[in-house]
Amino acid sequence: MLVEPDLTVPGSPEIFVIGDTAHVLRPDGKPVPGVAPSAKQEGKHVATTIKARLAGDGAARPFRYKHAGDLATIGKWSAAIDFGWIKLTGWLAWWLWGIAHIYFLIDFRNRLAVSLSWLWIYFTGQRSARLITQGDDDKS
Ligand SMILES: Cc1cc2nc3c(=O)[nH]c(=O)nc-3n(C[C@H](O)[C@H](O)[C@H](O)COP(=O)(O)OP(=O)(O)OC[C@H]3O[C@@H](n4cnc5c(N)ncnc54)[C@H](O)[C@@H]3O)c2cc1C
Repeated sequence: MLVEPDLTVPGSPEIFVIGDTAHVLRPDGKPVPGVAPSAKQEGKHVATTIKARLAGDGAARPFRYKHAGDLATIGKWSAAIDFGWIKLTGWLAWWLWGIAHIYFLIDFRNRLAVSLSWLWIYFTGQRSARLITQGDDDKS
């Protein structure tokens, strides 16, 4: 849903919406992307706002998304990375993509679980999530 710049529901300043469920616009009018880093930044922002309110500071705090860069996989051994100051594609980008995603997970158990799960998917070809990419028009 389209939320206020401080991530509250329009007309209900006591309700916050974050992550994939929030549609929030940046100062340039472009939407904040629906990715994990923005969800984490929004969660931190809301926690700070709630703490400030509990301390008696009710000032509206507009959310400012900090874009650290783009990472995307293109198959098993290939990815694309664009951090502005560095752009990479291929297997090195793929390794960096994997390391970055595991590094940013919270706590060691999650990192281990995701690493093992990814290794399993990689070597067996079995995936836990499936995407439907074929539309009705493509059916023959
Ligand atoms: C296939 C795919 C690939 C992606 N790849 C990337 C990527 O490479 N990099 C990246 O940054 N982002 C990626 N994303 C986007 C990223 O996953 C989301 O932006 C991010 O997870 C949003 O976080 P969230 O907390 O809003 O939602 P989620 O991470 O979806 O968390 C919502 C949680 O709420 C739980 N939940 C749902 N309903 C209820 C309920 N009624 N009661 C209790 N719990 C409930 C769910 O089980 C879930 O655990 C990808 C998304 C998809 C679908």
